[in-house]
Amino acid sequence: MSELYDKLIPHMEKGMALGTALGMLQWDNETLAPEESMQYMAKVLGILSGEYYKTTVNDDVKALLKELSVKEENDKLDFNQKAIVKKLKKDFDIMETIPEEEYRAYNELVANASNIWSKAKNENDFKYFAPTLEKIISYQKKFASYRQKDGKALYDILLDDYEEGFNMKLLDEFFGKIRKEIVPLLSEVVKHNDTIDKSFNSLEYDTEKQKEFGHFLAEYVGFDFKKGVLAESEHPFTMEFHNHDVRITTHYYKNNLESSIFSVIHESGHALYEMGVEDALTQTPVGGGTSMGMHESQSRFYENVLGRSKEFWMPLWDKLVNTFPEQLKGVTLERFIRCINKAEPDFIRTEADELTYSLHIMIRYEIEKLIFGSDIPIEELPALWNQKYQEYLGVTPPTDTLGILQDVHWSGGMFGYFPSYAIGSAVAAQLSHTMKEKMPVADYLKEGNLVPIREYLKDNIHKWGASKNTNELLLATTGESLNADYFIAYLKEKYK
Ligand code: ZN
Repeated sequence: MSELYDKLIPHMEKGMALGTALGMLQWDNETLAPEESMQYMAKVLGILSGEYYKTTVNDDVKALLKELSVKEENDKLDFNQKAIVKKLKKDFDIMETIPEEEYRAYNELVANASNIWSKAKNENDFKYFAPTLEKIISYQKKFASYRQKDGKALYDILLDDYEEGFNMKLLDEFFGKIRKEIVPLLSEVVKHNDTIDKSFNSLEYDTEKQKEFGHFLAEYVGFDFKKGVLAESEHPFTMEFHNHDVRITTHYYKNNLESSIFSVIHESGHALYEMGVEDALTQTPVGGGTSMGMHESQSRFYENVLGRSKEFWMPLWDKLVNTFPEQLKGVTLERFIRCINKAEPDFIRTEADELTYSLHIMIRYEIEKLIFGSDIPIEELPALWNQKYQEYLGVTPPTDTLGILQDVHWSGGMFGYFPSYAIGSAVAAQLSHTMKEKMPVADYLKEGNLVPIREYLKDNIHKWGASKNTNELLLATTGESLNADYFIAYLKEKYK
């Protein structure tokens, strides 16, 4: 028992309540709120965000965290409490180094940046976005420099914020393997692409029937509708409030069957992670998934490793054909599987297949490294972007809209975030490798029994929430830290 820890609880609870309210407003804004609501809700959001900041960053919390980090006091805490204090201290140290004035100015800049980016993207006008981007980068460099110790590189500081323990040394090695193995594999694979006829996918598919099937599919992989909802939004996402309220969205396109199918499986993978966090941790600072990278591993495991396998579809194929008998007339399961695994180099990351996806990420990683490790002029970035697309993917974006302006992330100041996506794919492959040694995964899929798979992930990954980081979870589950070899082997097996 720790009296000091007890004093920390009311601060955490209030922070949790405000955070939940902010999340609920954001959910509403992205799903149901009418168009004109936001300009008025912005005021509510502003006030609540200010309260959130004051609740989590103040002298009382600072003093408590400092005392609780001293060994003698820290030893009194149990495993979960230690993890909570560590997480709060890390977040606090990041926030505290930034002067309040700069923090406010930066947030204002970022709040307007997404509109500027969106306009630049729609009008294919990088120059319009460039000055804002330049300011965001200079703030990010400044904020990271406040935390710079022992000559640590700025970009390493940002990488560690998103994935604890990760840095350029590790990622250079990781992407080096990917560059060496995937780039040549891709050029082999595309030579055989014209044998895959995917035309059925773009026939007309009734939205109501897609909805029914999507609901069925979410439940099939284990999404619990007593603890979650499936709604619609422009871009699919997952949002959790606690382990008994996890919400996912999808987008139904009339002329694209696979889009919503795979986004439902993907978001369900995220949701299962959040629903699987143990009760003792939910609604605490470590009550959600441990990192973006680990989160993406769970969604991609369901979407790609399971969801794009033949065994997964064997028990489901008749149902899909019966739902869309006209459109899928004459399409065999074999052809469907080949089509949902077709690899095609293209410009857009979010539409990329499994094989090319990590190359899209590698390009962003290399450019971010350069931005934070040099003084490269902003106006040179679009050409650099295109040059790298040509080099790795063999395509040159015809416009900046299809090139450097495609992603929202930089307008939100999210530098160091992209590698999480590639880490996710690699973690998924590594977990899958171990899981297959432990249980007959393919047989379970053929039987339509996903329970043992879900339970395995829950026991090894989900239940821990953020009380352990990605590498700790990987080490405990697979016996080693992140190893890109499994991912490369997985892709080679699939595409060869
Ligand atoms: Zn995701």
